[in-house]
Amino acid sequence: MRFMFLFFLSMGLLPGSVSAQKSNPFFEEWTTPFQVPPFETIRNEHYLPAFQAGMLKQQAEIDAIINETAPPSFDNTILVLDQSGRLLRKVSAVFYALNSANTNKEMQDIARQLSPLSSKHSDDIDLNPNLFKRIQAVYDQKDQLNLDPQQMRLVTETYKNFIRSGAGLDPEKQERLRKLNTQIDMLQLTFGQNLLAETNAYKLVIDDKASLAGLPDDIIRIAAETGNQDNLTKGKWVFTLQNPSITPFMQSSENRNLKEQIFIASHNRCNNNNEQDNKSIIQQLIQLRTEKAMLLGYQSWADFAIADRMARQPANVYKLLDQVWKPAIRQAEVELSSMQQIIDKEDGGFQLEAYDWPFYSENLKKQVYALDEEAIKPYFNLENVRKGIFYVSEKLYGITFSEVKNAPKYFKDVTLYECKDVDGSHLGVVYLDFHPRAGKRGGAWCGSYRPQSYVNGKRVAPVVTIVTNFSPPSAGKPALLSSDEVETFFHEFGHALHGLLKNVKYSGLSTVPRDFVELPSQIMEHWAFEPEVLNVYAKHYETGKVIPAELVEKIKKSSNYGQGFKTTEYLAACYLDMDYHVAPQLLEARKQQEATAVAAVAEATQANNLDMGIIEFEENSMKQIGLIPQIPPRYRSTYFQHSMTGGYTAGYYSYIWAEVLDADAYEAFKETGNIFDKETAAKFRRYILEPGGSKDAMQLYLDFRGHEPGIEPLLQNRGLK
Ligand SMILES: [Zn+2]
Repeated sequence: MRFMFLFFLSMGLLPGSVSAQKSNPFFEEWTTPFQVPPFETIRNEHYLPAFQAGMLKQQAEIDAIINETAPPSFDNTILVLDQSGRLLRKVSAVFYALNSANTNKEMQDIARQLSPLSSKHSDDIDLNPNLFKRIQAVYDQKDQLNLDPQQMRLVTETYKNFIRSGAGLDPEKQERLRKLNTQIDMLQLTFGQNLLAETNAYKLVIDDKASLAGLPDDIIRIAAETGNQDNLTKGKWVFTLQNPSITPFMQSSENRNLKEQIFIASHNRCNNNNEQDNKSIIQQLIQLRTEKAMLLGYQSWADFAIADRMARQPANVYKLLDQVWKPAIRQAEVELSSMQQIIDKEDGGFQLEAYDWPFYSENLKKQVYALDEEAIKPYFNLENVRKGIFYVSEKLYGITFSEVKNAPKYFKDVTLYECKDVDGSHLGVVYLDFHPRAGKRGGAWCGSYRPQSYVNGKRVAPVVTIVTNFSPPSAGKPALLSSDEVETFFHEFGHALHGLLKNVKYSGLSTVPRDFVELPSQIMEHWAFEPEVLNVYAKHYETGKVIPAELVEKIKKSSNYGQGFKTTEYLAACYLDMDYHVAPQLLEARKQQEATAVAAVAEATQANNLDMGIIEFEENSMKQIGLIPQIPPRYRSTYFQHSMTGGYTAGYYSYIWAEVLDADAYEAFKETGNIFDKETAAKFRRYILEPGGSKDAMQLYLDFRGHEPGIEPLLQNRGLK
């Protein structure tokens, strides 16, 4: 109720009109270092009034375009539209980034309040017939307007986006579209909120030392610290569903019962028929998305979403997935049988279950490569890894990073770094926020508190943020990362570089297609474990000694270890995401193709028939590809945030799609004989990192590489050849 009150109160507020606003930081110019958000003075009660004023202001800007008496031109229509909504962007960027990284009950309520308002505001612009008339007029005469290539692209992209948002539909369909958008937005939001609540709700509490068998000391200590945070579990050991807790537990615990328990809890997040259950949300989402896509003239959501990306159509996605799937599952089966051999040799007397996989996989790695994850961790002190990433960035692009002390912070542990170009000029800043907490959603991501833009011909520098859930420091020991976490850090920093180096004139050309966006991130992963890079950053946290050559050699040799599992679980989730969102006819056709191979299961598969229920749909989808029961998809439906909350819907495949690009792009460096080749790096910066979406994505790639990529480097890279 309190927020309803605020909302109504804010209705009357226009920027600069009422003294009460003076206390709202969103209505002020920020005088903080690099104009980062003044986090310490932003309070929850500031958001709704700022959003409300931002929407009113943008609506007024749109009205001004419509009321313009001069005939439609690039300057008075397309450009004004591109520059509209600055206040709204200012508050949105801060609110949504914080709502992911550091949320609380109040912010989640605000997000629910905002959802229908934001849907309506976007639709009021996208479906405004008078505005569209002017855009269409500019679009129709674009060839006579003497536009430069950037202006031309902005005109065509703006027009295309309006069409994709329903501007060309008749009013009745537009009315229906508005309802669909409002419902979809709210369902997506609810899905994520349920997941956070359910993830935080679970604890595995251990009160006897014997049950800790196999766990490394550091992990036990962190579990004890977690237990001590709550009076109910004081003196006990607590494991959670957050990655730094559950992952090492699954990898090292010798207690199969407990592993089964925590695995089942993780596996059934939002599938417990309680208030946080996501099954009916998924059901509604798929239905509403399909209806929306059809309203816009596509036969499925996947067709709609992918039409605008590099893949162009769902069949191309399946083609790539199928190409990688067969070698991946074959490799996974080899891994499975090697692990079963260990169990049998030890007279275990059981068949390996899904919850045994991480433990025996680690075990096998130790046997084959004499490599112990715990033995590498002391060399992956988080601070050293950060220095290593800065080193790689500097070697490639000549850019430097320095810490900004006394910067405003939204949480005590976050740090801020300024990024300077080779000539010392300011490029932007990046926040780093590393460890789990209840207010942070799972996983790792890169976002921004202010995207790069141009105002009055001047570049506005971005405020980028990296948020992760890395292993925390404990008992005087620094945070020591697993090799997966190191890779993730390099990955997210690749996104950050894409954000920091971006130099795009028009906001409407800032974003790249979903299946291109992982190129800048994934290419950074290639440098993470190169011996000459490890030698720079992988130093023992106690002795400062550089990682021994013999360990580097082992890391190199084992770099493709476990790819059968990793690739299989990832691809399985890609198929699931696609299957939910494609037309039933396409699934049916795929089923026919595979008829001989999977005749038995094909019969049981009723493609896209969600009447059967979400879990059944998922099971059938997985049977269809021949997934083995020991490997669950990387995300099951009820906690598949990528697919269900909007960002990567019918787009989880983007990682493998972009991997075709990044594997081939990294070859460009290797072909020169120098992984830091300056000329190649300069080209990568100029053609891939700086232009954002100001050119077609494949054209950008061709500009950099000179030819289209093939799939060979990817297979090679994953050891699946
Ligand atoms: Zn990424």
